[in-house]
Amino acid sequence: AQPRTLDPQLLAEELKSGKRAALARAITLVESKRAEHRHLAHQLIQDLLPLTGKAFRIGITGVPGVGKSTTIDTLGSNLTAAGHKVAVLAVDPSSTRTGGSILGDKTRMARLATDPGAYIRPSPSAGTLGGVAAKTRETMLLCEAAGFDVILVETVGIGQSETTVADMVDFFLVLMLPGAGDELQGIKKGVLEIADMIAVNKADGDGALRARSAASDYRAALHILAPKSPNWIPPVITISGLSNEGLDTLWAQIGLYRERMQASGEWQEKRSRQQVAWMWDLLQQRMTAALRTNQKTAERLNVLEECVRDGTTAVSLAVDELAELMGLKE
Ligand code: GDP
Repeated sequence: AQPRTLDPQLLAEELKSGKRAALARAITLVESKRAEHRHLAHQLIQDLLPLTGKAFRIGITGVPGVGKSTTIDTLGSNLTAAGHKVAVLAVDPSSTRTGGSILGDKTRMARLATDPGAYIRPSPSAGTLGGVAAKTRETMLLCEAAGFDVILVETVGIGQSETTVADMVDFFLVLMLPGAGDELQGIKKGVLEIADMIAVNKADGDGALRARSAASDYRAALHILAPKSPNWIPPVITISGLSNEGLDTLWAQIGLYRERMQASGEWQEKRSRQQVAWMWDLLQQRMTAALRTNQKTAERLNVLEECVRDGTTAVSLAVDELAELMGLKE
């Protein structure tokens, strides 16, 4: 659908007043590939900037089947019942291939989908992980301006998507399956390094015992890693998203994290760092795109890439030539 209202000021007013349709339209604008839409979107975000940054941004990851959507559905419903406004976004670079999206799908979160206190937006399906992430970041700002105070960003553990999401949120939650010790060997060490908390899901019925045993394995694994912050040791808890068990503890821990980080100043420091990193991200994307769209460089780029591929031109020389075409002098 194309955005109907292209007057950013009017759209901003409607969005601020909490109109769902306006939020959806603004996100469509942000996700649009058309240059004039992108322009409007950037202006819109600039206008809304004072209203952004107030939400608690939480990333959630875990392998397919771990219970992300079930847990988000239950946790989100608990939160809206407590008066929060919850937005669920998704970063799923694999959705580019199919054009559809496996994450943030409304049918996977049946209760939240009809909850007036919640808003679910599937992953944008355009471009690279960097591109998808950039749009999700802007969507997050729009949701904040629309009054959502909890943003849940869901992702699966494919490639770099976990670190990318960890870089755009305040808190990163990793869901794990209960399992024997061999389960531990299958997990990526990297994900433990970026986790602010591990929740072993499906700790119900027959799974309860195995979940507790898995939790102590993860606790031991985390123990040998240097903590990211002197003020936070990532807790490992057991939950059942399906039967709403342990989610009160989960939320209490997340709240405690915020308190500690705000008190120590790490909260604002992390946000500022993320903002600047985002700027460099976008700049790099823009510069690379310019290389490919700029007439002077685009053609030479193809030729030089071939020469580098077959080994007839040195990489450094090829880069020198392209840089000069871009007007960059050493
Ligand atoms: P996702 O792929 O990570 O989003 O996982 P889903 O939320 O779709 O859950 C995958 C399957 O696990 C579904 O059949 C769920 O009903 C089931 N499941 C999710 N959470 C729990 C839980 O806490 N306990 C049990 N027993 N099953 C669960």
